[in-house]
Amino acid sequence: MNAKEWILELKEVGVLKEGQKNGKSYLHLQTPCKIHLSENATQQIRDTYEANVEKGGVLVALPQRENGITHLHIDRLIYLTNISDDKHRSYLPNPKELDEALTETYSGKDIKYFAIRFHTHPTHSENPFNEMLNYIYQCNTSNQDQLVSDFPVSIGEINVLMPRCLILCNGRLSNRTFIGFYNGLIAPIEFEIHRNEQREKAMQKIFDKIEEWLEKDSDNKWWLIGGGLAMALLIIRYYKFAIPLILLIFLMSQSFISSEHENPQYFAQVINGKITIDIP
Ligand SMILES: [Zn+2]
Repeated sequence: MNAKEWILELKEVGVLKEGQKNGKSYLHLQTPCKIHLSENATQQIRDTYEANVEKGGVLVALPQRENGITHLHIDRLIYLTNISDDKHRSYLPNPKELDEALTETYSGKDIKYFAIRFHTHPTHSENPFNEMLNYIYQCNTSNQDQLVSDFPVSIGEINVLMPRCLILCNGRLSNRTFIGFYNGLIAPIEFEIHRNEQREKAMQKIFDKIEEWLEKDSDNKWWLIGGGLAMALLIIRYYKFAIPLILLIFLMSQSFISSEHENPQYFAQVINGKITIDIP
């Protein structure tokens, strides 16, 4: 079976389906889709991440359709040399290595796979506070990332458009790894909107917990008022110190959101072990 026959078979079993964007036809993954990264894969991502340059390559994904769900199992990564002139800010794979990786995945002799292209964003800074800011603000696709994510892999006359993957690690303050999937005609092209939704959900959860606690015991509201007054006094008295502290707490709460989410969608923050990311 060659690569084209393999792709047509995947369309037959429902892993792939036809779709259109800007008048052009593509084959893309059929949703709902679950992307499973093994412990080995997340460990490789963590171990090979470099905080001061962009790196990239392909995630080797084994597809399977079961009970109306598309599963992609990822256990291996292939790194491709970054030939960009500015490796701190951009990633451009060596075209020859990319060709070889695509051949190895789509035309494998024994087992055939999909190739999901990924790249990393750097977070390095001499100042750990800036490093955390980098981790939060680099957690999104650039205009260039969004543009190139519309380029399909051509197998014969068939254009296959797979989602792309963005990876970031937060080195010094915690050992979190952000892994997110975008585009491929099945996922948003950026993470901001979805992240805001999750932040709102997390805030709502906190308010619900406080409300629950207040209802439990009528004395609790005095604790809350007392705590609020103490906080207000602290801010007035030491506001110069308190404001960066509050900012830090707010930023930290942001970077913790979604890691406690049981079924992460489109992206997840992994500390260690395997992870499944849903594309609904
Ligand atoms: Zn990028």
